[in-house]
Amino acid sequence: PGPRRPPGPPRRHGSDSAELQEKTLVLVKPDAVQRRLVGDVIKRFERRGFKLVGMKLLQANHGILDKHYHQLRQKPFYPSLLAYMTSGPLVAMVWEGYNVVRSTRAMVGDTNSAEAKPGTIRGDFSMHVSRNVVHASDSVEMAHKEIGFWFHSDELVAWECSDRDYTYG
Ligand code: ADP
Repeated sequence: PGPRRPPGPPRRHGSDSAELQEKTLVLVKPDAVQRRLVGDVIKRFERRGFKLVGMKLLQANHGILDKHYHQLRQKPFYPSLLAYMTSGPLVAMVWEGYNVVRSTRAMVGDTNSAEAKPGTIRGDFSMHVSRNVVHASDSVEMAHKEIGFWFHSDELVAWECSDRDYTYG
């Protein structure tokens, strides 16, 4: 028999439940690193209850950004987006948890910071679409792809949160 479970609410989900292991890619963009907002961004996702399973500081190059922003390559703002995203280091993170893709998008707010609601990351920390602080994947399929662009599988860490029974019913 394994270790005895501490007293607490009964578990509804199995420990290998796929819906609790949904993952998303979050990038803390170079403007946010320069403005020392990395901790503020991490704090929001931690407080919500999501689990950090991968993180690194890196200087992005055009190769990875061409893959990551493949759908935007024909946009007029693409050259300035590349210049922005390579202007300094960024922090790439993988967050895990129930409904994490949709929830983080809601927490990040509208792409155009000028429209982003107060209480969202963009609504609280930025004013303009061209310097909008964070990226978060917009679907489970895109999250899977994007995590593959930014992380090797051995850079992700599977671990169990000790408060799991209190974050999930
Ligand atoms: P999101 O980041 O919210 O998923 P998009 O995928 O549409 O939004 O755009 C990717 C990024 O490209 C935005 O986060 C922003 O940094 C940049 N971007 C989008 N639209 C514009 C624009 N009109 N002018 C400058 N930069 C833009």
